[in-house]
Amino acid sequence: TMASSHTFQPLLHRIAAEIESMPVRGRPADYIPALAACDPHRFGMAVAELDGTVYGVGDWRQPFSTQSVSKVFTLALDLALEGDTLWEHVGREPSGNPFNSLVQLEYENGIPRNPFINAGALVVTDRLHTRTGDAAGALLEFLRAESGNAGLAVDKGVAASESAHGDRNAALGHFMASYGNIGNPVPVLLDQYFRQCSIEASCADLALATGFLARHGVRADGTRLMTRSQAKQINAIMLTCGTYDAAGDFAYRVGLPGKSGVGGGIIAVVPGHCTLCVWGPGLDERGNSVTGVAALDRFTTLTGLSVF
Ligand code: GLN
Repeated sequence: TMASSHTFQPLLHRIAAEIESMPVRGRPADYIPALAACDPHRFGMAVAELDGTVYGVGDWRQPFSTQSVSKVFTLALDLALEGDTLWEHVGREPSGNPFNSLVQLEYENGIPRNPFINAGALVVTDRLHTRTGDAAGALLEFLRAESGNAGLAVDKGVAASESAHGDRNAALGHFMASYGNIGNPVPVLLDQYFRQCSIEASCADLALATGFLARHGVRADGTRLMTRSQAKQINAIMLTCGTYDAAGDFAYRVGLPGKSGVGGGIIAVVPGHCTLCVWGPGLDERGNSVTGVAALDRFTTLTGLSVF
């Protein structure tokens, strides 16, 4: 690899300066007021090395709404607990459709295409909830442990807002339940899912929490969460499905496993080397952060650190 750790800090400053001069920044998600109020000029970026050393620039310590970035961690926790039977309930193919789409579910018998579209994430959270009795709580506990930030919490206002504007997720949940693919009562599942999406965390927190995927399944404390093969599987699904119907373009531009959320965060993994998290609340039409994708594009271009 071309980069070594001492080069990350100047590199982050260079990327932030380039982002600063970008004219087009997208629009914050507007389906709930809490996200619509975000300033698209905010920008943060963090890089965490395998040993937990973390570098950052801009708003890298500012907590934001994790939203669909959380789907990586619920997938990891459920896969670690249940193993391959999960794949009888959710697929592993890119959908080519928006993250909240219903269209493929009917002709695929209530089995969502992948764990990162909303339908698939609902199945994963449902199964994790069955196994733990508290999916959002298990997620929060994991994020706190991996980030070293015991203060991580659900933003209850965002969660209430998600619930008040949750008709489409409710439709997805009930539709899949009609095929027998949801085990918990749908309202219980939705409450868990909305809390999961409403966890606030910073770029520093999320870059650190993603570390197990760069360490081939090993947690921050040195214990193993999952097999090396399972970590590879999650990275592969992030690459092919992590940015929804823009996953092809993200792979082309960034060349890393990545996962976006409508809060404007994106996590990315350089297996065996480091993890990244960027935050910029302005989204493109597909729901991915405009400045976040641009910053990751610059990072891999300038360092040569990519899975390709
Ligand atoms: N809470 C959002 C939803 O379920 C998460 C979507 C996203 O971040 N892409 O619609």
